[in-house]
Amino acid sequence: MDYGKLKNTELFLFDMDGTLYLGDQVYQGAVELMEELPALGKRYIYLTNNSSRAGVDYITRLRKLGFPCKEENVFTSGMATGMYLNQNHPGARVYLVGTQAFRRELLSYGIELVEEEADVVVVGFDTELVYEKLNKACHFLRWGAVFIAANPDWVCPMPDDEVLPDCGSICALLTASSGKEPNYIGKPNRNMIDVISKMTGIPNERICAVGDRLYTDIAVAQNAGSVSVLVLSGETDKAMVEAAQRKPDYVLEDVHQLHMILKEI
Ligand SMILES: [Mg+2]
Repeated sequence: MDYGKLKNTELFLFDMDGTLYLGDQVYQGAVELMEELPALGKRYIYLTNNSSRAGVDYITRLRKLGFPCKEENVFTSGMATGMYLNQNHPGARVYLVGTQAFRRELLSYGIELVEEEADVVVVGFDTELVYEKLNKACHFLRWGAVFIAANPDWVCPMPDDEVLPDCGSICALLTASSGKEPNYIGKPNRNMIDVISKMTGIPNERICAVGDRLYTDIAVAQNAGSVSVLVLSGETDKAMVEAAQRKPDYVLEDVHQLHMILKEI
């Protein structure tokens, strides 16, 4: 196997759920890999589509699980959404279907969140969802508001083969009721990697996304011209990889195997 693309990689983007851990269960070798990456000459960012938590919440959570993590090591679809709104809809009145944590994140980017006369509806992985929010969002969308969503994931994986309905599923309900489709900001939108490339000065082709999901983690790398590593420790199995039209650059058992390869090349 030619691991040249991994050797050339300067920055790794790690998915978390299903890649480094599942729930509170940290995968074997995951912490060790993250601790050793700087010595191997590689930088890293924890990259998540989960818009139910803010970036700062991830720093706390990752450290609690034993992972090294500074502020510059975390990037979420919620943060990307805040940046996107400022660039593309400056000064817009935004109605949010999202958690309190997502609300705080958007406020930290200076976004104006309103309950009436919204120009933009933003939807996230809202684990605090109530019917009134859906009702209001549907109303604003039908009367002309722009539809933006943080992440397209249908479900969020949980331990014991359980899942939680995620942002994509909430958006499907709003599409059915309003007739409008959202513009998804998170993975697989290449915007996620383009923004990181701009922030770090590292070109896309020297960035590698590592994750367990073909339609987000791998697709974002393919869309952005970056390198991709699929790990089989999460929701994707070998049969799904074989059925996929666009294959990842590398398919590995888990991040421990990635660590072993990086040490050798
Ligand atoms: Mg995952």
